[in-house]
Amino acid sequence: MKLPTFTVLGGTLGIDFINTVQHHRGQTVNLLNTPDAVVRWLAFMRHAGRLHAASGETLAPGPWPIERLIRFRADVRLFLDGGIPRDDFLTLLARTVAISPLTFRAVEDEEGVRLIAIPTRPGTQGLLSLLAFDWLNMVVSGAANAASRCQNGPCLAYFLDLQGRRKWCSMDTCGNRQKNARHYARRKWTGVDKGGHDHDAAGSSN
Ligand SMILES: [Zn+2]
Repeated sequence: MKLPTFTVLGGTLGIDFINTVQHHRGQTVNLLNTPDAVVRWLAFMRHAGRLHAASGETLAPGPWPIERLIRFRADVRLFLDGGIPRDDFLTLLARTVAISPLTFRAVEDEEGVRLIAIPTRPGTQGLLSLLAFDWLNMVVSGAANAASRCQNGPCLAYFLDLQGRRKWCSMDTCGNRQKNARHYARRKWTGVDKGGHDHDAAGSSN
């Protein structure tokens, strides 16, 4: 089974951020458990192209208190679970951005010209602004409605499902596990497999 690692399966910085809490062997694992882990996650996001270098450089000096990041992550997940009304969530996001306002810059890369948000403060405060801005964009544009939870029961991952067809965060892990579980159930039902098949074989092969 894969050990919990940072992922970019979410589709946006804001969704990848909420996927920094993962389910692993019956436990909930917080991948942003230290300031160092936050710095490593940001480097990962930069490498993956989710975070522009200009934003990363502004954030770089820190500091990285993790409590507010973890609270913000829990609030976003609660909103997606229906536990926070949309208007209240928009207010929460606006207040978060107000603590560290953003500036904007047009940048040109291989994908063309685009507008990037750059925090005015370093560390956790600036990062929260960037994340809140990403969620503001997703809620206002309606993209947040396409933020879907992985259908493999205990998996905590969210991803952007704009076509409404994606079921699993990853075919390599959750998709295969579900398919193997169905395959096993079918074999058992039809009596094909009466041997001592290891029920966990599907999971442990990942
Ligand atoms: Zn999953």
